[in-house]
Amino acid sequence: MLLFVSVICDAYTPSGEAIPTNNRAAAARIFSEERVVDEEPWFGIEQEYTLLQKNVKWPLGWPVNGYPGPQGPYYCGVGADKAWGRDIVNAHYKACLYSGIKISGVNGEVMPGQWEFQVGPVVGIAAGDQIWAARYILERITEMADVVLSFDPKPILGDWNGAGAHTNYSTKSMRADGGYEVIKKAIDKMRARHKVHIAAYGKGNERRLTGKHETADINTFSWGVANRGASIRVGRDTEREGKGYLEDRRPASNMDPYVVTSLIAETTILFDPTK
Ligand code: ADP
Ligand code: MN
Ligand code: MN
Ligand code: MN
Repeated sequence: MLLFVSVICDAYTPSGEAIPTNNRAAAARIFSEERVVDEEPWFGIEQEYTLLQKNVKWPLGWPVNGYPGPQGPYYCGVGADKAWGRDIVNAHYKACLYSGIKISGVNGEVMPGQWEFQVGPVVGIAAGDQIWAARYILERITEMADVVLSFDPKPILGDWNGAGAHTNYSTKSMRADGGYEVIKKAIDKMRARHKVHIAAYGKGNERRLTGKHETADINTFSWGVANRGASIRVGRDTEREGKGYLEDRRPASNMDPYVVTSLIAETTILFDPTK
């Protein structure tokens, strides 16, 4: 029997310091703070990505030197003229389930050739671990399919949606009765640190956060119930029930989930705007 084992490791210098690309170490410190542990932070990440034809680096299914019909019929679409790459998507979904990753769904995106999977809710540092593992598995499957995987936040300029990594988030007190007030306070803190968050939310995100294509402008913080054009969206269920979670729509598809999840926890649980 052949057995394959994949293990996620973070890397340290011989003297024991985290190497510069090891963002897990700093995140793990935040997630081990007592106040953060007590709040049991849950994350549900929507990882969008684009599949590209290997030799031309142009989206899967698109005519080379041309474009498909305009956006509209593709989101959650079905059919040979609307969905390209489903075999890859389904193989990835099964591999994640087999690997113990808490993958919770997949969908075809607004731009054809673009897809999304969701992981979560997962607690604390495990959210970053699971997204990185799920990305790696997707790299392996697209490699076998001879297709190139792109996490670029805006792979095609023009009237085509970019790729994000919406980060859904809740704490114990947000999920409990009266949680809606806690969510609004957290949003106020996130507003106060908008620039800090944007700087940490992925390279090239300014090409994506234009205020068009279901995004908010990169320089303007906003939130709203059921608002896909806001930085933070709160679901109708959360408003109705007076508790639940929020969705940070700003992170780009190429963000580091260790950085994003730990920053959200730090801002909403540890950060004191009066100091
Ligand atoms: P959208 O409507 O934005 O497309 P999705 O259904 O794609 O949303 O993703 C929602 C994500 O939110 C899922 O990963 C789900 O696990 C996660 N989620 C659900 N409830 C919570 C919660 N209370 N706290 C954090 N994440 C949650
Ligand atoms: Mn989604
Ligand atoms: Mn999406
Ligand atoms: Mn979303």
